[in-house]
Amino acid sequence: MEQKKRLVEKDAPLKKDDLIVITGGGGFIGGNLALHFTKKGFTNIRAVDKKPIYEWYQHVPGVQNLCLDVSLENNCRRAVEGAAEVYNLAADMGGMGFIERFRVECLRSILINTNMIESAYRAGVRRYFYSSSACAYNTQLQQDPKVRALKESDAYPAMAERGYGWEKLVSEMFCQEYWAERGMKTAIARFHNVYGPNGTWDGGREKAPAALCRKVIEAIDTGKKEITIWGDGERTRSFMYIADCVKGIDMITHCDDLIATPINLGSSELVSINELLSKIEKIAGVKLVRKHDLSAPLGVGGRNSDNTFIKKVLKWEPNTTLNQGLAETYAWIQQQYEKRKAGKRVVD
Ligand code: NAD
Repeated sequence: MEQKKRLVEKDAPLKKDDLIVITGGGGFIGGNLALHFTKKGFTNIRAVDKKPIYEWYQHVPGVQNLCLDVSLENNCRRAVEGAAEVYNLAADMGGMGFIERFRVECLRSILINTNMIESAYRAGVRRYFYSSSACAYNTQLQQDPKVRALKESDAYPAMAERGYGWEKLVSEMFCQEYWAERGMKTAIARFHNVYGPNGTWDGGREKAPAALCRKVIEAIDTGKKEITIWGDGERTRSFMYIADCVKGIDMITHCDDLIATPINLGSSELVSINELLSKIEKIAGVKLVRKHDLSAPLGVGGRNSDNTFIKKVLKWEPNTTLNQGLAETYAWIQQQYEKRKAGKRVVD
């Protein structure tokens, strides 16, 4: 169907005291995004999460923290009241272990975006950001570890990751139609595996970089000198450092050429899980005996981000190397591990 193109009217530049609302603010990316805007001098930020505030990864000084479940419409209305911009990063999610096991929970995140975007529209929000995922891409294109990197048009014909990926694809569509039909400026980034400090590193929702860092630290600490890897380690992925992720969210949201246009936000540095582990071992100064759990959840064979489009539009792409990002992440997880071992409270 032919889409009628909307004219993009210039909106007033965001003032430092305009209200920015971030849902999922108690989580990994949302917490780091609140920190990003605070560092840029924004003084009116509201972070919202359903987790008790005590369990948030970060309490960014000066940020208003609200504990609300934004799958409920009334809470969404309360969350976005007075907002100039909304960043929706709330979702029930985790690594492969979580999204393969809890598909219903993942699908139910549709309630979050459905109610958030409508509430944002009613409140007159100027820009609305949605955090989509590379899991929205057609899984049939990702069977081989020697993947062709995924470009934005590869989401259709659709065969997204069961549960989690389909929710992302439909929520993207909401963002596209709220712009096409109702004129609210929306932004959609398809994140490819994000990692870094202040995120989940234990408990079942963690992703490969954090899980492998923790397992290496445990192996050293217990003197066992062996490690269990999910699968044969040949599957490939790219991993984006958190600092690149929050910078990208900001750039994408404020680019008029990207309104309602899904775009990859990910690193294009492809590694196998075995290579990822070798990098972490090098940082830790250790070599471990590898055991492979072939019955563990694995996900697609390979996945990488084609960054042609983001480089063209933003003249930038996520560029922190894995070696740099992993060193920061390893150091942070080691700190958390030591604190927990010493009986101190940590959020994992
Ligand atoms: P996260 O789990 O650390 O943060 C998500 C937060 O949302 C959690 O704190 C959770 O409590 C909160 N939340 C869940 N349901 C809620 C509800 N009903 N009301 C209020 N808060 C609720 O995850 P993250 O890594 O920070 O992910 C943020 C967003 O980015 C999600 O939409 C996720 O799907 C997307 N994403 C992340 C990655 C990644 O690698 N981390 C990759 C692709 C997409």
